[in-house]
Amino acid sequence: MTVSPENQVTFNYIGRVNSPYKEKFAIPRQPGLVSAAQGSILLLDDANNQELLRGIEQFSHLWVLFIFHGTQRQGWKPLVRPPRLGGNKKLGVLATRSTFRPNPIGMSVVKLEGITQNNKQTVINISGLDLLDQTPVVDIKPYIPYSDSIDGAQAGFAQQPLHAVTTKFSQQAQDDMQKYQREYPELALFIEQVLAQDPRPAYKKRQGDDKIYGMKLYNLNICWQANLNNEMYVLSINKVDH
Ligand code: SAH
Repeated sequence: MTVSPENQVTFNYIGRVNSPYKEKFAIPRQPGLVSAAQGSILLLDDANNQELLRGIEQFSHLWVLFIFHGTQRQGWKPLVRPPRLGGNKKLGVLATRSTFRPNPIGMSVVKLEGITQNNKQTVINISGLDLLDQTPVVDIKPYIPYSDSIDGAQAGFAQQPLHAVTTKFSQQAQDDMQKYQREYPELALFIEQVLAQDPRPAYKKRQGDDKIYGMKLYNLNICWQANLNNEMYVLSINKVDH
């Protein structure tokens, strides 16, 4: 983007996200949709200091302002095709939550699960995130319901998704899950909530489909299929090899 020097600013990252979502595929479209997603924000450099967080425990939820680092280099256009509209209608980028924006800034409300300090590292534990692993954070603010939540607000094309999808686990997947029970006690719920969003491309939604999909959650690769009748079938769960 060409800008005159007086219209520029430089930010420093204040944190990085540790997220179970290791790739863009299957990340929910907004925060809160997958409440079982657990992650954290590690504070960086001068911001890695518990004093910045004094009083934050009074709030149940936080706004996280972050950089869409995974799509940043792809640039932006004035018009985008929101997946919600099947990808065939164009809207102004500022009328959408597209990640391809003039400034690649994202904003998500997440649940504050607590603050921990490991050696010299301050960590903010969060849940319900919709963030890619390693997302750079530029600001954090408390969520203030009386002002941030507006009763009766209109949301045009971005209506709350319906969850008409159910998930079944194969015997293999159940046996696999048993192995990771201690490490990820909420794994079954997490997988169910992610699949309830139907992560497939818009044109395949609500249809049966032969393809076997793989998605990475934490350090696990989850294989699943979409059957007819809006039913997701988890085939297997395996550790990702590094
Ligand atoms: N709640 C945010 C994000 C909405 S877009 C906002 O409204 O600004 C949601 C999508 O952002 C997710 O489906 C995910 O694929 C994508 N995403 C999350 N973190 C990202 C990152 N660091 N880089 C690029 N895309 C990211």
